[in-house]
Amino acid sequence: MRVHTLKRAVIALALALPGAAIASVVAAPAAHADGCYTWNRNLYQGRSGSDVRELQLRVAGWAGNRDIVELDGRYGPKTAAAVRRFQAAYGLRVDGVAGPQTFAKLYQLQDNDCTPRHFSWSELDDGCGRGGWTGGPLTATQTRQNALRTMWKLEALRKSLGDQPLTVTSGFRSRTCNSQVGGATDSQHLYGNAADLVSRSRSLCQVARAARNHGFSGVLGPGVSGHNNHVHVDSRRENNQDRSANGTTWAAPNCGIGVD
Ligand SMILES: [Zn+2]
Repeated sequence: MRVHTLKRAVIALALALPGAAIASVVAAPAAHADGCYTWNRNLYQGRSGSDVRELQLRVAGWAGNRDIVELDGRYGPKTAAAVRRFQAAYGLRVDGVAGPQTFAKLYQLQDNDCTPRHFSWSELDDGCGRGGWTGGPLTATQTRQNALRTMWKLEALRKSLGDQPLTVTSGFRSRTCNSQVGGATDSQHLYGNAADLVSRSRSLCQVARAARNHGFSGVLGPGVSGHNNHVHVDSRRENNQDRSANGTTWAAPNCGIGVD
């Protein structure tokens, strides 16, 4: 009985501690085994491989203004710049090299199901309440991959807004769902590539402005028809044929965005 109580107390303590504190209590093994993905080498400019791609997926939200990080598995200058922004945002040493510190922060941020800490698969799946990832133009696997990248970008956006909650009111939409809600026929929601956002503590204009710095090439907000009660963000550049900056569409006239 006593043992039981003690065990429960230890568990409660562990749950109450932030990840860093647990790491210092429990001797960390040389290689951290993560429930989702574990990196086995340092990554920096010039390296390539699937481990680089896994990193790119998770730092895509730190792409910088009017830029994107391609998930091409090649660690180039844009990936390095994104890693530097990630490091700066989380108070790590800023060197553009993904090593133990950077990986430890990513492990801390990701759940075992690979979603970032503050977003979940169920928030992004079929927006009409049916759930699931089918019924769009892509395979369920591709759609989920897009949704996962969207979530990591949202995690970055959320961080930059002062760690305040962002609520997703619509993520992936099947064709049926999309027509039901009157979405555009080529909506990025069909690809798992978009999210509609509201915030209790930040204005829609604050969300729309910040989204431009977090890899979202599509931002539609107040002043655009149908977007006065949420901000729509998407990754249209990665999805479309035109991956240049010309593929960017930002419009929120009531926020001074997209107005000459
Ligand atoms: Zn939308």
